[in-house]
Amino acid sequence: MTDKEYAEFDYPHFVECLRSMGAGGLDNMLHSAVGISGESGELLDHMKKVIWQDHPLDKNYVLYELGDILFYLTSMCNCVGTDIDTVRRLNIKKLQKRYPDGVFDKDRSINRDG
Ligand SMILES: [Mg+2]
Repeated sequence: MTDKEYAEFDYPHFVECLRSMGAGGLDNMLHSAVGISGESGELLDHMKKVIWQDHPLDKNYVLYELGDILFYLTSMCNCVGTDIDTVRRLNIKKLQKRYPDGVFDKDRSINRDG
């Protein structure tokens, strides 16, 4: 895929076409949420093996699992009629409110309001 083809690629539509399960509505949302959790679990399991079982860190595996998570995140975005960029923007806004100095603050983390 060329850079131009990549820039024009409709990933949300691609995800919607590939998602094989889900009868619509809440069923699609649950399928997406289970997918996010399952793929996050695969990443977490890899980290468990790296941290506690002396396996080597496999950055390619991490990248592929992040891609799997992105797939289901995108699927959930499709379900609620939004996109990853909007989610990212909302997250930035939330975190800038929580950490106005732009750095982690333990007290602000503990005494958060959202
Ligand atoms: Mg996976």
